Amino acid sequence: MPMGETVYLNGAFTPRKEALISPLDRGFLFSHAAYEVTAIYGGKLIDFDGHLSRLGNTLEAISIPNPHDPAGWTDIHTQLISRNQLSEGLIYLEVSAGTYDSRDFAGPEIFTPTIFLFADHRPLINDVAEHGIKAIFLNDIRWRRRDIKTTQLLSQALAYRSAREAGAKTAFMVEDGYVTEAASANTWIVTEDDRIITRNLSSDILPGITRGHVIARLRERGLPVEERPFTPDDAYAAKEIFTTSAGAMIAPVIQLEDRPVGDGKPGPVTRQVQRLYYEAIGADVATAAPWALA
Ligand code: PLP
Repeated sequence: MPMGETVYLNGAFTPRKEALISPLDRGFLFSHAAYEVTAIYGGKLIDFDGHLSRLGNTLEAISIPNPHDPAGWTDIHTQLISRNQLSEGLIYLEVSAGTYDSRDFAGPEIFTPTIFLFADHRPLINDVAEHGIKAIFLNDIRWRRRDIKTTQLLSQALAYRSAREAGAKTAFMVEDGYVTEAASANTWIVTEDDRIITRNLSSDILPGITRGHVIARLRERGLPVEERPFTPDDAYAAKEIFTTSAGAMIAPVIQLEDRPVGDGKPGPVTRQVQRLYYEAIGADVATAAPWALA
């Protein structure tokens, strides 16, 4: 889907084709950068407080001063939404440790960040949400700090390439016999006896903002969520599987490797989670997702 024509780079809104960053940027040389992806629905920022709070945690963990307070970040996002007339899609934000005159691993005592944001027009309540996807299993070969959102994404890029080669849309990553998360989403299963399970937070997974929102919505409804690890066999035995992320919201997983999940169609718990989330973000479910009402 088309990227917006106007991007934000280091204090200025500028045409995308004129936005340039030095090859000596630490984001390019060392992946020394934090990023966030926030969903926009009906022109509004979704779960934005959570994204800003996680951004703050990531920046602190990688020694980059946070260049804006929440009001400053909100202003940049709001302007980017209006300048690109973005009604449904994503805002991508990256803050790197900046550009210096040499390739020095440690770098200066205090970093002067590079700040880059762009708008991405795309339907979030979409075909994937309606029909579901296939996932494969892969070894989780990522570094140990998966609880912060950095641009160290090579293993995820390779995971998506392996998934595509297998005719799948994503990969469930496995470490020490347990599923950690999907390539760019948190993973959920619904067991035979109707327990809803998603992995507990630790440095093994990203604390997904959508995950947190969905847990809150389910608990409000008296539907308990068990936060604990599950195995690939638990996933094979599950009645339903879905993922949560800002980019795909609630995505049903209808096939794992070569096996259908449940009856091979998005199940009732997944549909309920979709309804609760879509309502919470202000969607008119009857129009935007009539299939979630069935
Ligand atoms: N886990 C990983 C590895 C991700 O990359 C993402 C999102 O990109 C998520 C989980 C979901 O997080 P969120 O709901 O904040 O988008």
